Amino acid sequence: MSEHGRVAVLGAGIAGAAAARRLSEAGVRVRVFDKGRGVGGRMATRRVDDVQFDHGAQFMRAHGPAFAAELDRWAQRGIVAPWAGSDRYVGVPGMTEPVRGLLAGIPVSSVTTIVRLRRERARWHVEDASGTVHGPFDGVAITFPAPQVATLLEASGVALPGVGRAAYAPCWSLMVATDASPPDVLIEPRTDAIGLIAQDSSKPGRPAGRRLTVHATPEWSRRHLETPREAVVAELLGAAEDILGTGLRPSHAEAHRWRYAQVETALRKPCLYDPDLRLGAAGDWCLGARIEAAYDSGEALARGLLADLGRPA
Ligand SMILES: Cc1cc2nc3c(=O)[nH]c(=O)nc-3n(C[C@H](O)[C@H](O)[C@H](O)COP(=O)(O)OP(=O)(O)OC[C@H]3O[C@@H](n4cnc5c(N)ncnc54)[C@H](O)[C@@H]3O)c2cc1C
Repeated sequence: MSEHGRVAVLGAGIAGAAAARRLSEAGVRVRVFDKGRGVGGRMATRRVDDVQFDHGAQFMRAHGPAFAAELDRWAQRGIVAPWAGSDRYVGVPGMTEPVRGLLAGIPVSSVTTIVRLRRERARWHVEDASGTVHGPFDGVAITFPAPQVATLLEASGVALPGVGRAAYAPCWSLMVATDASPPDVLIEPRTDAIGLIAQDSSKPGRPAGRRLTVHATPEWSRRHLETPREAVVAELLGAAEDILGTGLRPSHAEAHRWRYAQVETALRKPCLYDPDLRLGAAGDWCLGARIEAAYDSGEALARGLLADLGRPA
């Protein structure tokens, strides 16, 4: 074992990135794995030709001192900025940017779905969907949404009691490039279908052109979980046009389904961690449905691992 140990961080959302950064700054050798093509998880920015959308999280706010200090640091570096002069901060040029900033210099294996953990002689190996085995690692931090953590633990024959208590609502997200403009940068009509309409193009540092992101309500998203994408686009466009009182005539429209979007039942603990196994799990499902909660959870898990990495397994 190297002096400070090696840790696998599974998931490159804000929880995984916060954990990876904290571990790496303490001298631990970290490798991050994510099944996606890029990093950010639900802090997502999609670019298609010359249009771009934040189709996951829209903005972040700080409630506690740790995340407030981090937001200040990011603002000084120009990777976040206030949105429309409010206390809502957005990533610049997209919501993914703060996660990229946290992971700068840390090795990330993208397009790598982790399907199993194996423990041999008190150290961990992680196996991806292609059968490749990575490791050994002295500790593992899993930062997926809770149902995906539960699937991995079950496939690996290990348990972190409490994971099964967290629950999520889904969200269909519609991205529209249009000439029409809503009355405000952010409206939350909370009709049956529509929870939020954000004027994506009003965020700082975005490319030219008008773009809206429309999020369906949890109830509507649940009812339409298996509805084909094209039908979701048509229905949400119609519902948004009714609210805005104008035709949207989109030059681009697509929908993305987030199966695990918003935490409905949180664990009410900063993270789950087993010091004997040096195995833990973190994410928004621990503390609540917000970016800050996921960040705080990732930090808490890193602190748990750091307290143990110095002692023999
Ligand atoms: C539509 C929507 C709108 C939202 N709006 C807001 C908002 O305005 N403000 C706010 O504060 N929060 C908002 N949220 C919530 C916020 O995005 C999340 O709370 C936060 O980003 C969660 O971060 P996380 O790191 O816990 O999880 P995630 O961001 O989900 O990261 C988990 C990562 O694990 C990876 N992963 C999963 N399984 C595997 C596997 N088997 N192998 C490898 N990798 C895997 C995923 O690819 C993902 O990158 C919104 C979320 C959604 C979906």
